[in-house]
Amino acid sequence: MSECIFCKIVKGEIPTTILYEDDKVVAFKDINPMAPSHLLVIPRKHIKSIADATDGDVQEILPAIFKAINHLATELGLSEEGFRIVNNCGKQGGQTVDHLHFHLLGGRQMMWPPG
Ligand code: 5GP
Ligand code: ZN
Repeated sequence: MSECIFCKIVKGEIPTTILYEDDKVVAFKDINPMAPSHLLVIPRKHIKSIADATDGDVQEILPAIFKAINHLATELGLSEEGFRIVNNCGKQGGQTVDHLHFHLLGGRQMMWPPG
């Protein structure tokens, strides 16, 4: 998926400050932040969306994503006050980048329902 912008970030082809990485996932700041803290946590592997993840992907990658989120939320001081995790899936879900990613948002009061 050489044209995928998040694959390019994983491969270091787009200069991006990586805030967390391990053998399965990478995390970096969203370019258009919607909260004082707004990170994206993505698998290194190109998976289009959660709807395209295989059972194996789910077993292998989701624990790594949630481990990264927990680590980052603690590091950023979000754990005590709380934070939001968002995954947009497909057109009606509002997904705009077709490489699976989880938003980690914090540092302000979140509202519900989302738009
Ligand atoms: P989605 O709408 O697919 O759930 O979220 C995609 C997110 O990726 C958006 O919040 C958007 O601001 C972010 N984004 C798009 N292109 C780039 C980029 O090149 N670098 C970074 N850091 N974030 C990006
Ligand atoms: Zn990709």
